[in-house]
Amino acid sequence: MDISGATRLLGLIGDPVSHSLSPLMHNAALAELGLDYVYVPFPAKAERLSIVVGGLHAIGVQGFNVTIPHKQAVVPLLQMVSPQAQAIGAVNTVYRLEDPHYGWGGTNTDLDGFLYPLRQLNQDWRSVTATILGSGGAARAVIQGCIELGIVTIQVVGRSPHALAQLQQTWPSLVLVDWTHLTSTLPTTHLLVNTTPIGMKKTATDPSSPISVEDLQRLPSKSIVYDLIYTPNPTELLKVATALGHHSIDGLEMLIQQGAKALSLWTGEEQMQVETMLRAARAQLFG
Ligand code: NAP
Repeated sequence: MDISGATRLLGLIGDPVSHSLSPLMHNAALAELGLDYVYVPFPAKAERLSIVVGGLHAIGVQGFNVTIPHKQAVVPLLQMVSPQAQAIGAVNTVYRLEDPHYGWGGTNTDLDGFLYPLRQLNQDWRSVTATILGSGGAARAVIQGCIELGIVTIQVVGRSPHALAQLQQTWPSLVLVDWTHLTSTLPTTHLLVNTTPIGMKKTATDPSSPISVEDLQRLPSKSIVYDLIYTPNPTELLKVATALGHHSIDGLEMLIQQGAKALSLWTGEEQMQVETMLRAARAQLFG
């Protein structure tokens, strides 16, 4: 990569950012496209967020991704926010506004990433019941995604009554379910989405799946089981779901699609570099 005075900057803000796959994915795609850009991780502490966001604009950065813990806090620092990102209450992609506007625009490409593999299935979603495990940041993008698909019955299973109630403030039609009643939701679920980190197995004692094998057997046949986790790949949840004959979707496609969409927004390149990004991410994750 040759960096010159004309090289344009893209990046990622978060805390931490050192583990992120985004720099590898984006720089591989930029190289493939032959574009004179570089994508850099910028560690940003919460108490400095507004200085960082203003500073990136002042030095001419073209756009950046936002990761944990800033996806919600960045919203009031932007001059324009897409309607979907407003509903989700979180932004993961920020782009420079052109004249006559000054400042940043924000959108949420996690939503596009989540929807991509589901849209490939080309099905009518109106009669589908979706059950979403978890009520954090990713759950908000997933709920908005389910609504955009046309799903009417959306159940959210969470362990924090406060977090569940907050979701219902944005989406009054949600069916809220306490985590202790998770099992009862399964016989009517056609699309099950895990947005919790359960299954990442960061320590040997962590549970390997949010749902036991016996409980997964309660799903109607040929359901869709979607795990947002991309490592391990497949997760225990998806291994069992596949063995039971369900349609499994892992989080890697979502990760790649959200990145490809962001890059296309920043560079104006219509050709999305999905294969290149996937190769870079796989090489890092699985060697
Ligand atoms: P988050 O905001 O921290 O939310 C995590 C949710 O999981 C919270 O509702 C949390 O409940 C719940 N949870 C955690 N441990 C639990 C347990 N033992 N039992 C029941 N609920 C539990 O995190 P996030 O940003 O939504 O991310 C969640 C997962 O999605 C992560 O694994 C992340 O890597 C993945 N993700 C993937 C992509 C992708 O592109 N594939 C994109 C975004 C996120 P409490 O609030 O009660 O703790």
